[in-house]
Amino acid sequence: MKTTILFILMVSTILSVNAQKLVKTINAQVDKEELRSHLYFIASDAMRGRNTGTVENEIAAQYIASRFESYGVKPAPGAESYFQQVSLMKSVSPRKASLSVGDKSFELETDMVFYTAKNGSFEGEVIYVGYGLEDDLKGLDLKGKVVVAKTGNGNPNERLTPYTIQKQKAVKEAGAVALIELFKPGRYPWKLIQYYFSGEKYSLYDGEEGQEKEAGFPSAWLLDQEGDLLSYIEGLAAGTTASLEVGGQGNHVIKVPNVVGYIEGSDPKLKEEVIMITAHFDHVGVSKVDGDSIWNGARDNGIGVANMLTAAEFLAKNPPKRSIAFLACNAEEKGLLGSRWYAEHPVIPLEKTVYDLNTDTGGYNDVTKVTVVGFERTSVTNLFSTAASAFGLEAIDDPLPEENYYDRSDNVSFAAKGVPAVSFDPGYTEMNEEITKYYHQPADEPQTLDYDYLTKYSKAYIYAVSLIGNYSGDLFWTAGDKYEEAGKELYGRD
Ligand SMILES: [Zn+2]
Repeated sequence: MKTTILFILMVSTILSVNAQKLVKTINAQVDKEELRSHLYFIASDAMRGRNTGTVENEIAAQYIASRFESYGVKPAPGAESYFQQVSLMKSVSPRKASLSVGDKSFELETDMVFYTAKNGSFEGEVIYVGYGLEDDLKGLDLKGKVVVAKTGNGNPNERLTPYTIQKQKAVKEAGAVALIELFKPGRYPWKLIQYYFSGEKYSLYDGEEGQEKEAGFPSAWLLDQEGDLLSYIEGLAAGTTASLEVGGQGNHVIKVPNVVGYIEGSDPKLKEEVIMITAHFDHVGVSKVDGDSIWNGARDNGIGVANMLTAAEFLAKNPPKRSIAFLACNAEEKGLLGSRWYAEHPVIPLEKTVYDLNTDTGGYNDVTKVTVVGFERTSVTNLFSTAASAFGLEAIDDPLPEENYYDRSDNVSFAAKGVPAVSFDPGYTEMNEEITKYYHQPADEPQTLDYDYLTKYSKAYIYAVSLIGNYSGDLFWTAGDKYEEAGKELYGRD
């Protein structure tokens, strides 16, 4: 008994000596000026907001790859370069469109916007289906019909577009010719909807023959400002038809880079397991506004990129037992497309990828904290606390669970496949003016950042990666988590 206690004491003393050494090394090697220089490059006006598909987005990818190379970070085993080409369908919204239903007619923009579309004439009998959810559609014959539904599912707190996607799929499969949803402005004004729906939209393109032509099922939102349009539709005589004309819509396939780097672990056995570090490098580009038109994206997600590069430089010199992979994701702002592409086409097998630490930030407002989105969802909550406190910070859980940030960044592309994942972000405790004045604004510039804090944040991040990379316990989901089943399947666990 005595020897056991002595042994445990010795082991924990050695561990804490090692831990202290590691913290000392991190303090000595992580350099504020270096971190700042990444941000001043990546979020400079010259990078014009790094929008997916632009030259500046390619330059950002090239910058990340060349930093990797200079640090001794390698391409992934078996890969020829640092770049993974992501294949996307870029859909340009219609330039003209008109709709007539019974004796009413509607015009593009003023009354109608398209979620997806294709050019042509579409005509059919109108069928009103309530919200158009699974139960609403049960037993209905939709073949050849123009399906009219209300947007969403009746819950004002839920996002509407996921329901549009779901309904679109269901009615298309049932042979409908178009989906028209009636939108009654509540939380969001019509102007914002117009802005969001017009312009370009992106989706993953898996290269199937004909997918390009099939891409745009006609799916529109129709403004119903006062709710009287709904009464009109409900009162339509059976057999009333609708016709829709669409023009000027286009689909193009483009390829954009993800950047993938790799550091081999120091332990002959554990190096077979990989800790993934993710951060998106794209942002939303430039747009026509008065004054500054460049959306620099210093916070979103210049911080994530600078942090990834800072971690890469340190970890290449001080690798933990497990191997480390870096995925700088493209097209996050287009719907997490770069990370979703990677998860469908992993460069390193997902079953060897045992954890993902993401960084994605819209901003921070508490420089005494780090906010871990998914803090208690995996088995290493205590390591986050240890890592933060070593640099005078406190690790806290996401204070805004109702915003569902977990499922809105690249970590979810891994989580959905079963890989335990969190987003380890600069500290925020609420959504206040300090966040909204920069979040997706031209004001999100590198000279507005607190580099003393970000250096501390980055040190805590690196320490967390090291602790997880060396961890001897089980890396997995907290029991009962919604991604636990996917994890069991991925790793073949009971
Ligand atoms: Zn972001």
